[in-house]
Amino acid sequence: MQEKNVSFNNFEQCIKCTICTAYCPVVAVNPSYPGPKQAGPDGERLRLKDKYFFDENLKYCMNCKRCEVACPSGVKIADLIHSARRRYSREMPEFRDRILASTDLMGKAARPFAPIVNSIISTKPVKGVMDLMLDIDKERSFPKYMGKGFENWFRKNAAKEQDSFSRKVAFFHGCSTEFQQPEVGKAFVKVMNAVGYGVELIDEKCCGVAMISNGLWNSAKRHAEHNVKAFNKVVEKGLPVVATSSTCVFTMRDEYPDVLDVDNSSVRDSITMVEKFLFELIDSGRVKLVFKDDYRARIAYHVPCHMDKLGWSIFTRSLIGMIPGVALTVLDSNCCGMAGTYGFKKENYNYSQEIGRPLFEQIKYLAPDFVCCECETCKWQIEMSTGYDVLNPILILADAMDLEATTKANGVG
Ligand code: SF4
Ligand code: SF4
Repeated sequence: MQEKNVSFNNFEQCIKCTICTAYCPVVAVNPSYPGPKQAGPDGERLRLKDKYFFDENLKYCMNCKRCEVACPSGVKIADLIHSARRRYSREMPEFRDRILASTDLMGKAARPFAPIVNSIISTKPVKGVMDLMLDIDKERSFPKYMGKGFENWFRKNAAKEQDSFSRKVAFFHGCSTEFQQPEVGKAFVKVMNAVGYGVELIDEKCCGVAMISNGLWNSAKRHAEHNVKAFNKVVEKGLPVVATSSTCVFTMRDEYPDVLDVDNSSVRDSITMVEKFLFELIDSGRVKLVFKDDYRARIAYHVPCHMDKLGWSIFTRSLIGMIPGVALTVLDSNCCGMAGTYGFKKENYNYSQEIGRPLFEQIKYLAPDFVCCECETCKWQIEMSTGYDVLNPILILADAMDLEATTKANGVG
């Protein structure tokens, strides 16, 4: 019997226009990469005849999905590429790839020694050793681990009062909020509570995106199955699954079924971004946001590739645009070049910087107060490459909102 994912895709719809190749950020900088048309629909035809035609250089695809957004025929090009890697690649993930993909394990291991780990991994000699031994580029800066995680804060400071809300959301916080940016989760709880929604945590595991990129298919599938099961429990109670990271949301909605063959049909439509969730509440008149009179900021918004693929940047633009003191510039559509763990690798580092250069130059030219972006790995890349701070939209909202006045306006408490 044919494997489900061998030909589930619509590669035969390709009209050979090559628009995908024009939009692929990797093909423009890396001559070893065959490009989306050849690696996707053209290659699939050949691979179905004989797996001999599989090309290991498909590993250079960043899975940014820009080709799929551009394709006029709706061919799932990157899904074809990653399904082919999953089926045919004979390369085993290196030790480095396993480390980079294990975001939750690494976070748990680093947390008790966070200040020491942070200072050690930012020193030149240690970066040099990692470059030499692990092929993690010595120019790359690492995100800082926090000593105290979001879940711990939630249980100690917020869990109790969530029971007083009649309406609730289930929050998928992701690894970055747990280990590097607990302030994103705290802001989420503050904003949701102010508009009258209690927050419930999910028995979540890492969404698995880094495992998919690094070829750890079985681990990614296990994580996906665990998460779908956990989501089913909250969705059955009528709760939406709301998140702050565009890459987690995109992976859990689309990569689970398309790349990992994990059926998420019972929960997919309930998984959403907080910006979409909030905008729809405001638009339907069910909640109100009240902003501080004196909040002022010049903000440049970078739409992450996966937010573009979701088609939901309009919600972030609309929400941030509601803040009276904000001057918002939407940056040109460019990939930042980081693509999760891709930009850490020595063989990709220069490509990653070259891909991101137009974006970095535009940010420096505009000189905003800070950059807004829903993806944590875009944040790492932009902060390292421009020196500008990058804030998740929920942090901007929590800072700009008059939380007390919003609470009153929504009749909470
Ligand atoms: S997903 Fe991105 S890197 Fe991969 S082929 Fe498509 S555009 Fe190129
Ligand atoms: S953009 Fe779509 S239709 Fe055009 S060549 Fe690429 S896959 Fe084929």
